[in-house]
Amino acid sequence: MDFQLTEEQEMIRRMSKDFSDKVIVPRAKEMEETGKPPYDIIAQMGELGMMGIPFPEKYGGSGGDWVSQMLCVEEISRGDVTLGTLLDVTSIVAQELYEFGAEEQKQRWLIPIVQGKEIGAFGLTEPEAGSDAGATQSTAMLEGDKWIINGTKQFISNIGYDNASIVVITAQCPQLKREDGKNVINTFIIPKGTPNFTVGTHWDKIGLRSYPTNELLFQDCRIPKDYLLGKEGRGFAQHLQVLETGRIFVAAVCVGLAQACFDAALPYAKQRHQFGQPIYNFQAISFRLADMAMNIEMARLMYMKAAWLKDRGLPHTLEASYAKLFASEMAERAASNALQIHGGYGYMNDYPVSRYYKNAKIFQIVEGTSEVQRYVISRNL
Ligand SMILES: Cc1cc2nc3c(=O)[nH]c(=O)nc-3n(C[C@H](O)[C@H](O)[C@H](O)COP(=O)(O)OP(=O)(O)OC[C@H]3O[C@@H](n4cnc5c(N)ncnc54)[C@H](O)[C@@H]3O)c2cc1C
Repeated sequence: MDFQLTEEQEMIRRMSKDFSDKVIVPRAKEMEETGKPPYDIIAQMGELGMMGIPFPEKYGGSGGDWVSQMLCVEEISRGDVTLGTLLDVTSIVAQELYEFGAEEQKQRWLIPIVQGKEIGAFGLTEPEAGSDAGATQSTAMLEGDKWIINGTKQFISNIGYDNASIVVITAQCPQLKREDGKNVINTFIIPKGTPNFTVGTHWDKIGLRSYPTNELLFQDCRIPKDYLLGKEGRGFAQHLQVLETGRIFVAAVCVGLAQACFDAALPYAKQRHQFGQPIYNFQAISFRLADMAMNIEMARLMYMKAAWLKDRGLPHTLEASYAKLFASEMAERAASNALQIHGGYGYMNDYPVSRYYKNAKIFQIVEGTSEVQRYVISRNL
């Protein structure tokens, strides 16, 4: 097996690392404190092509691969996870448009998203449909040449950015029935600003404070018939398919976060003296760091393998869930360990490990909770 990155992958990793160190790391604390999205940084990420690495040049991308995209996400997330998560969500929307969209839809919405000029949002969760995402209660009724959408989507990322362009949502279509009698779920493109589509409650969160999360309300919201995305009756399957890629993204975000925890904890342990010596000399501390280093490496190999399979068009359902589950649980432990190694100082907002700790939990919840990942894995064994 060849574990060597290609020249292009290495170049993207290095470019993302430099950008993270020079541009993101110095701003991360301020972003968390103000809760304001860093639009200037997001624009630079778009200009550097970070939103479109694996998409063809014809659609504004770089024609690269998913391994490179994930390496980029790891490095960006090492600087700040909100920006890695932004890359995740906007890219899975781009993937949905790319894989299933009509050419006109690609020209209109995919290109600006891939170029990073606009941001995409992914609308699956509802107040009564969380882990059971197929329990969608939102409806879409066809009336003449318009779909009429009603319903609520909950905890939707990205749409709160000023330059968010669309949200791709699922809705059931009661006028249609599947052969097995179940409701047909379709996916629809809803441009931000469509009348009767309201971006509601902006949630105040424990972490990811500069990352917008909103409730969305649709009240007789009319969209043209051709805003249906993909094949009729396949909407839910399409949404779940791109979520597989989302799980690789989340794993890469978590590796970046855990690496930041390790990078803060190791030097601290070597310079902090107690009992007349660096605390690193105590096995209780150095073994924590040894475990952190090993687990980060393990999670990195897992997301890279899932992305490598995806690049080759090979099945990767299991590998994406393994990587997401392992990396998200690993990152939470890494954040807790990094804070513990910092002792009382780690609990202070002046130290970045306090921010890492607050940000770590969410990745066991989004894009399928740890429990859901275990269902996906056990169903595929
Ligand atoms: C910051 C943030 C951003 C988000 N961004 C988006 C987004 O952009 N788009 C989007 O569509 N959604 C988004 N979500 C929603 C997220 O995906 C859901 O919160 C998640 O899927 C869980 O759904 P829920 O919160 O309704 O929890 P529930 O489904 O109510 O689960 C509650 C608990 O019960 C457990 N549970 C549920 N069913 C079972 C079962 N059968 N067996 C065992 N345990 C079970 C769950 O694992 C969890 O621990 C976001 C959420 C947050 C917090």
